[in-house]
Amino acid sequence: MELLNTLVEKGLRRELPTREEALAVLATSDDDLLDVVAAAGKVRRQWFGRRVKLNYLVNLKSGLCPEDCSYCSQRLGSKAEILKYTWLKPEDASRAAAAGVAGGAKRVCLVASGRGPTDRDVERVSETISAIKEQNEGVEVCACLGLLTDGQAGRLREAGADAYNHNLNTSEATYGDICTTHDFGDRVETVRQAQAAGMSACSGLIAGMGESDADLVDVVFALRELDPDSVPVNFLIPFEGTPLAKEWNLTPQRALRILAMTRFVCPDVEVRLAGGREVHLRSMQPLALHLVNSLFLGDYLTSEGQAGKDDLAMIADAGFEVEGTDTTTLPGHRVQGGVCGDGGCGDAEAGGCHSSGEVPEQAASSDGAPSDEVRRGLVSVRRRGAGTELPPNA
Ligand code: SF4
Repeated sequence: MELLNTLVEKGLRRELPTREEALAVLATSDDDLLDVVAAAGKVRRQWFGRRVKLNYLVNLKSGLCPEDCSYCSQRLGSKAEILKYTWLKPEDASRAAAAGVAGGAKRVCLVASGRGPTDRDVERVSETISAIKEQNEGVEVCACLGLLTDGQAGRLREAGADAYNHNLNTSEATYGDICTTHDFGDRVETVRQAQAAGMSACSGLIAGMGESDADLVDVVFALRELDPDSVPVNFLIPFEGTPLAKEWNLTPQRALRILAMTRFVCPDVEVRLAGGREVHLRSMQPLALHLVNSLFLGDYLTSEGQAGKDDLAMIADAGFEVEGTDTTTLPGHRVQGGVCGDGGCGDAEAGGCHSSGEVPEQAASSDGAPSDEVRRGLVSVRRRGAGTELPPNA
């Protein structure tokens, strides 16, 4: 297909595709899906080989957020029966992080619900970063604390944060449909503050919220302009008790096309398979490894993911390898002097949500989509790890 040849050539040259080309990827047919994956896979291998970076989420503070992001189980008025707790102590957060590192993660993503941190919160997180770095040599730490105010990014950087995550989530034109308590511009500003403070920026999207193809292309192009080092691609987890609980409009094939389009637009950036992979890709997850070079190990913020050992087996079975701490994730031309320059980070404070649990046996309806019962079973609220007495999934 001429389109795919053009996109591969551009990706290998780090050249931006046109909007029309990006839209055309989303419009390809299921018959062309493997060709799309193979083409984007060439770009992925050019910049990242067959390496997969593992990241591990630690939810420092869960639930009770005053913001109204409609996709989030921690939002104002959420009826989702998630774990709710206030700030984890540094030693507890460090213990949770150590489990992820022992499981193969090279980055720990510290996430807290809320509009943004107070200066006292930044101090708390700084203590937590110190505790994690003392006990886990060589680990990278990403903070995901919401909107930052003046000076906070610099203080987090001084405390040892390698990266900061804040997702754009959706296009600027539709941002008001998913959130009314802050806007797209607020999010862009926080990513810029993190970059200006010398942290590696992580910013991504959530697909499956009812957006159009044009919205998806808009948000990925906005991300490319912002130039984060890593782009987590989340697929909406429709939590019961949130306004988007009924938004089940992704298929595994569409999820793969979205990942391929993101890879073509951001060829040399760490593209991370984030929340919702088990829910929407299901048994097609291994194909996504040809498109992304990073994923979250284990559980998400408020929902449970596939068992960590199954993630590792999936990576090995698909012929990929877990990236070691002695390898720099990003290609040399993207690594900034002195700063980690290495992509990565949490599935966003947006992450207030994301992910699933064990994938139940499929009971497909006649159109191939999972039945309502199976859909409900795909979303499993987190009941273990941080904030509980039970061991984490790593
Ligand atoms: S995404 Fe973040 S700011 Fe929005 S409701 Fe969830 S925790 Fe709050």
